[in-house]
Amino acid sequence: MNYEQLGLKMGLEIHQQLNTEKKLFCPCECELTNKKPDYKLLRYLRPTQSELGKIDRAAFEESRRKLEFVYESYDHETCLVEADDEPPHPLNMEAIEIALIIASLLNMSVVDEFHTMRKQVIDGSNTGGFQRTGLVATQGHIETEYGTVVIENLCLEEDAARRIGEKKGKTIFRLDRLGIPLLEVTTDPSMKHPEQVRDVAYQIGQVLRSTKVKRGLGTIRQDLNISIAEGARVEIKGVQDLDMMPTMVEHEVQRQVNLIEIMKELQNRNASVNDEIYNVSGLFEKTDSKIISKALSKGGTVLSIKLKGFRGLIGKEVQPGRRFGTELAAYAKKMGVSGIFHTDELPAYGISDEEVKNIEDKLELSDMDAFILVADNEEKARNAITEVQRRAKISILEVPEETRKALEDANSEYLRPLPTASRMYVETDIPTTVITREYLENIQKNLPELPEEKRVRIIEEYKLSNDMATQLVRLDKADDFEVIMSQTNLDPTTVGSTLAYTMKELRRDGHDISMLDNSSLIGTFALVEKGKIAKDAISDVLVGICKNMGSPEQTANQLNLTMLSDEEVEAIIDDLISENIEIIKERKMGAMGALMGKSMQKLQGKADGKLVNKLLKDKIYNIIN
Ligand SMILES: [Zn+2]
Repeated sequence: MNYEQLGLKMGLEIHQQLNTEKKLFCPCECELTNKKPDYKLLRYLRPTQSELGKIDRAAFEESRRKLEFVYESYDHETCLVEADDEPPHPLNMEAIEIALIIASLLNMSVVDEFHTMRKQVIDGSNTGGFQRTGLVATQGHIETEYGTVVIENLCLEEDAARRIGEKKGKTIFRLDRLGIPLLEVTTDPSMKHPEQVRDVAYQIGQVLRSTKVKRGLGTIRQDLNISIAEGARVEIKGVQDLDMMPTMVEHEVQRQVNLIEIMKELQNRNASVNDEIYNVSGLFEKTDSKIISKALSKGGTVLSIKLKGFRGLIGKEVQPGRRFGTELAAYAKKMGVSGIFHTDELPAYGISDEEVKNIEDKLELSDMDAFILVADNEEKARNAITEVQRRAKISILEVPEETRKALEDANSEYLRPLPTASRMYVETDIPTTVITREYLENIQKNLPELPEEKRVRIIEEYKLSNDMATQLVRLDKADDFEVIMSQTNLDPTTVGSTLAYTMKELRRDGHDISMLDNSSLIGTFALVEKGKIAKDAISDVLVGICKNMGSPEQTANQLNLTMLSDEEVEAIIDDLISENIEIIKERKMGAMGALMGKSMQKLQGKADGKLVNKLLKDKIYNIIN
């Protein structure tokens, strides 16, 4: 695909949770919990008129779904601020400080005053119907091989409540996540190369990870804005894998190009969407379709609409494995139905040729026309098919602006319309925070080292291999490595390999490596230094510590891993030599390899390999000479 010709433009929006002691506007801890909630709040949110007097498009759409919201709350993990029953406490300055560090690393201009604003959000994820947010910095930049990318804004905001699920039309949220400080980094939408988006996301990630941010699944969320000249701006939410970004861009461009092609064909055919909704339940009294008969038996309805000039286009693929019909169905599904049936896939799914013909007769379809079916309870079915009608009408005119959800196969799925900008107003409960030049300069004097800088430095300073240094930085173990190195005389490679590789293996084997703090690692390394255990025994001692066997020394003793004295080692080797005297006579020095293996097996890590090697070599030499 020629992206340049298509006028491809992309931007990124990255949300990162900060690892502060407390939440942004209350003293609760920033930890998620899986405990049973102590109580539940029930709320019903409606859109309010924002300052500009316009109801936000996305907000309005959500309210049409008439959802009630349940909030799972706790006596200790959450407080009245999350429940919106108490005004917010003063802004958490630790969060501001981290935001200022990140802003400085991204070369941004910091604001003089931080104003807390309210951003209207009525999908229920905020108990107050708004999210608190404020601008920290603007106009930064990142260099890429395709040119400079502008970082437009950096905002500090509250994370939303955690969506747990849905039950009987009520959406259930947990309040533990609400209020965790969250940074929003937005680039300008000027990126033109899919690889450039990945690079910028990677670089921003590196900057974030050089500071106190949360790690792990769900703590960073990446959204991708994509548009092409003839298409529309689309925001794909929740892109997990950076390496998938270029493919995701490709699939979205493909989708828009195909939708444009469908649009042009519809215009050529003079296509239109009839407003009428037909009740066709009567045509399905004896149907073999499980979905339809189930809906009817519950007192539901089968509704149909007529799409003039659409035949053959609904089944057209727009993204790998996803058809134009999938796009229509996504709008229906947002209204709570499980899906739609359309002309281009019928007869199928138990719907017979005769039933198809009956609908075509009733709707007076020509052979260029298509129909859509939805079966569910009357209200849901009507809302769903109205949405399909709306989407189908748009398809004749343009590619719609949408917020979409990233799927694991690099495709995406319709989530809601793209929010309009009119949804910010001032939070009057929180005073302005002045950011003085002195305060900022102090922060900028002590900026952290970026992960990449750290990687290069530790290779140089400790003579580590490239892979080991990369692993240490990636696993966030480089700081621990340096702390341990300052307290041990052991060689850097042994320490590095324990942190970069051994611990990973232990975790993979199911051991509780949270027991392995720096002091128990330093204690274990000290045993090697003092000659009490062999290097080879490090991993066994660590396993013992994970199993709660006590201090490194106690563990080594209990596991019988302490080194043998030189005399004990020599005695064992003498035994081995007399057992293998024939082999030695036959192979001479060539017997070294076999005997070395046997000795190490017998000594089980309780002797130094170098000593064993030397003893063997001397003794074999003496025998054959
Ligand atoms: Zn709280």
